[in-house]
Amino acid sequence: MKFTTSWDDGYALDMKISELLSANGAKGTFYLCPHKQHGKSMLDPKDIATLMKNHELGAHTIKHPKLTLIPSEKVKEEIIESKKWIEELSGKPCEMFCYPYGDTNDEIENLVKEAGYKGARGITQMLFTSENAFQQNTSLQIAPFPKRKVHSRWWHVLDKYGPLRVKRKAIKAYGIPLTECNNWLSLAKAMFTYAHSTNQPCFHLWGHSHEVEKYDMWKELEEFLRFVATHKEVKHVVNSQLLQ
Ligand SMILES: [Zn+2]
Repeated sequence: MKFTTSWDDGYALDMKISELLSANGAKGTFYLCPHKQHGKSMLDPKDIATLMKNHELGAHTIKHPKLTLIPSEKVKEEIIESKKWIEELSGKPCEMFCYPYGDTNDEIENLVKEAGYKGARGITQMLFTSENAFQQNTSLQIAPFPKRKVHSRWWHVLDKYGPLRVKRKAIKAYGIPLTECNNWLSLAKAMFTYAHSTNQPCFHLWGHSHEVEKYDMWKELEEFLRFVATHKEVKHVVNSQLLQ
């Protein structure tokens, strides 16, 4: 089985992610965007140069818009300009793209293809394989589980267990007992164990370093990566290597 990770937006805290990955033999694709987000510090060029030594850089647009909400000329510009930006930073071809907010459609996928990317990551979770290179699925996001920690919409108060609710069907399908669903780490380990024991093609972990910080999940991330590292036959790859 392959194991890959990906990290969105290009926050300065990605350096901490990179260290944790390297300490555990894991690889990541970092989808960078020059536009500052959530008022957080972003990676500087020196950090980016260090990151690319061990990991992959991918494009994530310039302004981080919802692509289905802007005219296709603008979509094209975001897709092409962010590829150029990454290639200037890295000095090598940028093969991967990531849709902001996972927001995409067939037309946008085609524009990404035409721009010369080899694949693009989406935000669909609880899967271990992808049929479409331009809609790469993920297995699990690192985020509060089973309960929300922040109620950013009024109805979140009525749906405290939203993170569990949306995953329930898959959890059942994979035969993961609800006793493993008390916290993110046990779910991650149970999902990984399921994928590993049933010989799935890939486990794809993703997230945002600023959320790992915000929700105090560094220990959980570290322990999960350590757990993955005990499975010696797992092959650690960056996102574009899933396409081979
Ligand atoms: Zn993003």
